Amino acid sequence: MLQGNSLAARDVASFIHPYTNLATHLDKGPLVIERGQGVFVYDDTGRDYLEGMAGLWCASLGFSEPELVEAAIRQMRALPFYHTFTGKGHEPSILLAEKLKAMMPFPASKVFFANSGSEANDTQVKLAWYVMNARGEPRRKKIISRNKAYHGVTVAAASLTGLPNNHRDFDLPIANILHTDCPHHYRFAEAGETEEAFASRLADSLEAMILREGPETIAAFIAEPVMGAGGVLTPPATYFEKVQKVLSKYGILLIDDEVICGFGRTANMFAAETYGITPNSMSVAKALSSAYMPISAVVVDQQMFDGMVEESRKIGTFGHGYTYSGHPVAAAVALRTLELYEERNILGHVRDVTPHFQKRLRGFADHPLVGEVRGVGLLGAIELVADKKSKRSFAPDKGVGTAAVARALDHGLIVRGIADSIAFCPPLIITQAEIDLMFDRFAMALSDIEAWVAKGNLR
Ligand code: PMP
Repeated sequence: MLQGNSLAARDVASFIHPYTNLATHLDKGPLVIERGQGVFVYDDTGRDYLEGMAGLWCASLGFSEPELVEAAIRQMRALPFYHTFTGKGHEPSILLAEKLKAMMPFPASKVFFANSGSEANDTQVKLAWYVMNARGEPRRKKIISRNKAYHGVTVAAASLTGLPNNHRDFDLPIANILHTDCPHHYRFAEAGETEEAFASRLADSLEAMILREGPETIAAFIAEPVMGAGGVLTPPATYFEKVQKVLSKYGILLIDDEVICGFGRTANMFAAETYGITPNSMSVAKALSSAYMPISAVVVDQQMFDGMVEESRKIGTFGHGYTYSGHPVAAAVALRTLELYEERNILGHVRDVTPHFQKRLRGFADHPLVGEVRGVGLLGAIELVADKKSKRSFAPDKGVGTAAVARALDHGLIVRGIADSIAFCPPLIITQAEIDLMFDRFAMALSDIEAWVAKGNLR
């Protein structure tokens, strides 16, 4: 265990880090980040890192946007806090709801605010149940998610998440949460199966699950358009079209989790547009405020809102909400973020630089350690494999992905390892020259890994 009075030692003495190996952290200590500038962050020794993940897929406008700081200060001075319970309101949350609703790519009715993606998705589960009770269909309680999905870590959201690490030893998932197939063509398609045929097989499998469980017991299906923390898995062609057909056949709500994909990430304002998705409700967070303040939202259609009002008529107060739902400072910062997206045509910029980003990303496809390169917009992943031809992965205990992330850090690049897939999700403001720098730094890390693999005989 680190000793002494350094910031690192004080961290180890007092701080439980989320998503960290708590045992190794005791010896290793933290990487202390001190400040940010554009797409770069700087540690406490002054070293720069290109933030290839926008933090946690979130700091869309980079790490030094003064307009967002000003928006926070202005609101702090005017009204630092007021709640929105019992019919109270304030301008920032009202204007933000109005703006978000107007931006939605589906016929949106109303907006509910929370503080994180997890809270938004817990709200989604509760709303699905609430609305089904309102409709007089109280048996419809099951929610279908997917293997490798990531929807957060609160009790219901972690249950929706389809990753073993979020369930194991936490006694999850809770009842009524089901997981259907992961739509990753490279890993799960049969030999010679086209994307379209794979999508048809998965839609058939979803329908079989619905019939097996009884359609009258299923409330909703939740999906990320591109599965983020599961490995940046882009859907196979025709997947959402076929899945939506099955859902509407059985009257099942579709919840679109755009916590990563929303606000330009896939080179459309929402990935619902990229993949032709028409949901009943959407979760957004992260880039909603460029991550400068914690805020998330659930946007519902008229059908869902009607159900909520109906239930309220019967039983009284809608018994759900957070102290900080629509927090005025967070709402003011989010509102300014959405305005900046428009004023600066951030979507136009993303569209301008996406071809270069994707070209550089896909430039790694021929590398002997690279099994698959995938991505859309300013989102991508490179999957490292032991055997390119057979797609055989490295043994998990070899830690190849972890080593690649560490080598990238040595070269001044922050990326995320998801098993042996390396994810890229830079701030949306990244320039073409910075995209080059990001992938040049990654190329150096990959060369190190190649040498390490050759020496360590890991195959
Ligand atoms: N949904 C998706 C798609 C996410 O990627 C995340 C976070 N990475 C969440 C939900 C949970 O968000 P939070 O960490 O803010 O609770």
